[in-house]
Amino acid sequence: MNTETRRIYTLILFHRQGGQCCYCRRFMTISYEPRERRRPQAATLEHLRRRADGGKDHRDNFAVACKKCNDSRGRHDWLFYASLKRDEF
Ligand SMILES: [Zn+2]
Repeated sequence: MNTETRRIYTLILFHRQGGQCCYCRRFMTISYEPRERRRPQAATLEHLRRRADGGKDHRDNFAVACKKCNDSRGRHDWLFYASLKRDEF
């Protein structure tokens, strides 16, 4: 996926999610900095089903997550991770 497509998906999902991270529900910011220079609250495009688990580059498989959550999700299933981040356990 090229940078422009990634930005468009990110903006659409950012608005659809009311600017909130799909995991921790904190409000995010939009950043066009390279990923490694973004702040922890910057929105990043997230594959709900990880590519490592066979997740595809398809609109149904995307959400936006803050960089902090995205970086720390690891191998967790997205639903499990969302519950974890929202203190539902
Ligand atoms: Zn988050």
